[in-house]
Amino acid sequence: MKKSSLTGFILAATLLSGCATTTNPSVSGVERKQFMMLSEQQVVAMSTESYLATLKEASEKKTLNTNAAQITRVRNISQKLIRQTGHFRQDALQWKWEVNVEQNDQVNAYCMPGGKIMVFSGLIDKLKATDDELAAVIGHEIAHALREHGRERMSIAYAQQAGLVGLAVLAGASKNQNAATVGVQAAALGSTLFFALPNSREQEREADRMGLELAARAG
Ligand SMILES: [Zn+2]
Repeated sequence: MKKSSLTGFILAATLLSGCATTTNPSVSGVERKQFMMLSEQQVVAMSTESYLATLKEASEKKTLNTNAAQITRVRNISQKLIRQTGHFRQDALQWKWEVNVEQNDQVNAYCMPGGKIMVFSGLIDKLKATDDELAAVIGHEIAHALREHGRERMSIAYAQQAGLVGLAVLAGASKNQNAATVGVQAAALGSTLFFALPNSREQEREADRMGLELAARAG
């Protein structure tokens, strides 16, 4: 490809990807345009791989779902929230949602792209969280996934680090789903990026608003 047409192609790809918004506003009214370069499939694939590795590791350490009452409680609350996700995006109702609890003192929870939820027991035990409080936290984490904040962070980091050459490769990859090598590189980078890059203030505000709506709708 000639340099001028390559530049034009990159520009077009960037502009196109810059116009995306991942969710319906519903009553929360979140409708910011998002910069997306990596495809949703790429990000969900690498996240699923990372989540499976986490489950395997926790299972080996015997820290996965050790408390039957706790996991039942967390799954019931999560299912009520998940049933409401269609208000923001219909496709989420068909996601392969998973909910697990890891024995871990950290007061934390996360939902990876594609609906892979992990709640740390520290969040429940240390805070003595009520069902409503757990729903507020899990709703917030689900909102991050619905809004694809992970994909957005990865896209920005990728664009910043890869430079023009990387952008050209990515743009080519999004046109050609068979670009396996690019997918492998992205997968290696993906889980690192998901956990290393913090959500922005704006992303946190969006997750708060949408998460609250999910919790309210779920009762
Ligand atoms: Zn958050």
